[in-house]
Amino acid sequence: MAQVFPTSAQIVIIGGGVIDTSIAYNPVKYGARDLLLLEKTLPTEGATWHAAGLVGQFRSQQNLMEMMSDSVKVFDQLGQDTAQNPSWNKVGSLRIAPSNERWGELLKSQASAQAVGFEMDMLTPQEALEIYPLMKIDDLVGAAFIPADGHIDPNSLT
Ligand SMILES: Cc1cc2nc3c(=O)[nH]c(=O)nc-3n(C[C@H](O)[C@H](O)[C@H](O)COP(=O)(O)OP(=O)(O)OC[C@H]3O[C@@H](n4cnc5c(N)ncnc54)[C@H](O)[C@@H]3O)c2cc1C
Repeated sequence: MAQVFPTSAQIVIIGGGVIDTSIAYNPVKYGARDLLLLEKTLPTEGATWHAAGLVGQFRSQQNLMEMMSDSVKVFDQLGQDTAQNPSWNKVGSLRIAPSNERWGELLKSQASAQAVGFEMDMLTPQEALEIYPLMKIDDLVGAAFIPADGHIDPNSLT
């Protein structure tokens, strides 16, 4: 029997990468059913296939931090909402400051992180070493630890 493809839909999304499927996610979550996602090859075969899957909320601009922080809230909920495991590992991230200038930048960013609402802990070199014991700390001024960062498998997420 010949396959019948839809010729129209209320919502049409072009592409089957992680951004495209996340655009589809909310309308479907809240009840939309007439949604068509068009992918010219296979889902995740674009940039998504190459991604390391690092999830870091720290950004130079506050609006980008807010977007990343919202993504983390979605990742936290996704397993429960979809009954599929997105391989979300919330292991935290360390940003190191090997100079006083970099340390100053991290201290300034801490205020933005607090405004967005995610935790960013300022650590001494010794405290950073306890989190990542393979690190050399001779030239370290300090480090910032973001406990709610981590990595997610881009394929499973899509
Ligand atoms: C090496 C590398 C490492 C990365 N590491 C990270 C990371 O650690 N953390 C992070 O957050 N981001 C990372 N990124 C960025 C991340 O991969 C991209 O931001 C993300 O995958 C973009 O998703 P997308 O859906 O916009 O695009 P894509 O994944 O490229 O999806 C677009 C899709 O559209 C399809 N398409 C295109 N044109 C058409 C058409 N005309 N009709 C139908 N389908 C079409 C393509 O086939 C493709 O599948 C990395 C990227 C690279 C390359």
